[in-house]
Amino acid sequence: MSSAKHAKERAREAGKERPLPESLSLPRVGADSHAHLDSDQLWPEFESVLERAARAGLSHIGQVFLRHSAYLDRRELMGKPRPGLPELFFLLGIHPCDGLTVTEEEWPAIEEDFRHDDRLRAVGEIGLDFYWKECPRDVQERIFRLQLRIAARLDRPVVIHSRDAFADTLRVLDDEGFAGRPLLWHCFGGDEDAARALLNRGWHISLPGPVTYPANSALRDAVRIIPGDRLLVETDCPYLAPVPWRGRRNEPALCAFTAAAVAEVRGEAADELWARCGDNARRFFGIA
Ligand SMILES: [Zn+2]
Repeated sequence: MSSAKHAKERAREAGKERPLPESLSLPRVGADSHAHLDSDQLWPEFESVLERAARAGLSHIGQVFLRHSAYLDRRELMGKPRPGLPELFFLLGIHPCDGLTVTEEEWPAIEEDFRHDDRLRAVGEIGLDFYWKECPRDVQERIFRLQLRIAARLDRPVVIHSRDAFADTLRVLDDEGFAGRPLLWHCFGGDEDAARALLNRGWHISLPGPVTYPANSALRDAVRIIPGDRLLVETDCPYLAPVPWRGRRNEPALCAFTAAAVAEVRGEAADELWARCGDNARRFFGIA
């Protein structure tokens, strides 16, 4: 298809009425394993984002902090219980693209926070990103290894970000002895071979909105081979909204569409897959 035709199609998509996630009638047991609710696009509407998530069937949301300062600034407000709304649990890790902004004093402070804040459930997102060029590869690898060792000392699960760096990410993880440890591969976009490489190491896989995009048939083939007890869903909001909200701002409520599409690919009932992915998330992150 020509790019002009693509642009036209996108404009048509942007203007049309879209179904709401509550139209899927999913039970209030789902989990979005990976959200950035403190992003500029979502933070001003924090409470209503949570209300829409509740209506869509979410009971838990994994809030991912990309910086220690972001966690310190928002933990009180985000962590307070809100009856009737989804419960937030926290992930904290320095993203590979931010490897030049972190200071050496922050590492022990982060480790201390993990020891004292029960809401911090996993070290992540950490990994390698060779798509963006802000941070040199050797710096990325250094802070990746450093954080894997923090997670090992704390005995916490890790959540991995890997973009255009699949083989190197595996090399580092194998080298650090992470096969068989609790690990979630966030925003998985690979094919069957890639999925097997992760599953053979005993890891979990989280699927984002792009699994609904027509072009991603190799990813949908991979989705069919993931065991039901190792599968999670996520938004990675505010980006990567699933069809039928593709191209718009993403938020946890839209995770419901991702789950429904995954269920269809796997020939399962949407409400059952939704509940199972929620249970997998609660088990993986150690939430009672
Ligand atoms: Zn993320």
